[in-house]
Amino acid sequence: MIREVSGQWWFCCPRCGKKLYPLRAGAVCRGVLAHCRERHCGWSGEIIVEPGDWRQEKPTLPA
Ligand SMILES: [Zn+2]
Repeated sequence: MIREVSGQWWFCCPRCGKKLYPLRAGAVCRGVLAHCRERHCGWSGEIIVEPGDWRQEKPTLPA
């Protein structure tokens, strides 16, 4: 999942929502394995960011 926090986009843990990796607006990612560092979460999986994710989120692209 992607989320905007204070003007910065992040790939966030799909289980607990912790911010894991900063993204540039419009980023597309597949095949990168990540591990959530939040205690008691332990999610690990693939970072998947599709072009469609950005359309759904309606990001305000920085000028
Ligand atoms: Zn997590």
